Amino acid sequence: MIQIDDVVISLDVLREKFICNLEACKGACCVEGDAGAPVELDEVAKLEEVLPVIWEQLSPEARAVIDRQGVVYTDEEGDLVTSIVNNKDCVFTGYDEKGCCYCAIEKAFREGKTDFYKPVSCHLYPIRVENFGPYKAVNYHRWDICKAAVLLGKKQGVAVYQFLKEPLIRKFGEAWYAELEDAVRELEARDMLSSSEE
Ligand code: SF4
Repeated sequence: MIQIDDVVISLDVLREKFICNLEACKGACCVEGDAGAPVELDEVAKLEEVLPVIWEQLSPEARAVIDRQGVVYTDEEGDLVTSIVNNKDCVFTGYDEKGCCYCAIEKAFREGKTDFYKPVSCHLYPIRVENFGPYKAVNYHRWDICKAAVLLGKKQGVAVYQFLKEPLIRKFGEAWYAELEDAVRELEARDMLSSSEE
């Protein structure tokens, strides 16, 4: 691992390869798993604000859950997460004509209807950020449903931290990301980033 400011980054984030392959996975991360996506406290108001804009795209089940418990809940580990339907589907999931899941918030953002892209944890996936006292840990989360993304990343030689440049800058800033790139160059020069899966 390496450390930049108060952020500790696992080497997997720097050496493993990844590019989301929506053709293959159909956006399954929006509907798989047994809890919602982590939400930061100041994002709750943003989720509530965007709700009227996307309401018509949400399923009747999702609307009923939101009416009952709101846009977020506290999961078993005590973390604030997006509300889910049937114990798995994020309430903000929409489906396109090909049956591919999409994030209704991201779609509204791309159409210029909101300035909120989506929760930063969704933007950062498959990176997960956890708080440990004064430190933040940045880890690569492996999940079977993303297998095609690993293959595509290997084919194009794109590492997790490169694929997620935009959300990493959103979370930690431009200067931090530039330092990360410098650190990667140094590690590469010392041949310390060979993939464990190659
Ligand atoms: S994170 Fe995984 S499941 Fe989600 S869109 Fe990317 S490849 Fe698909």
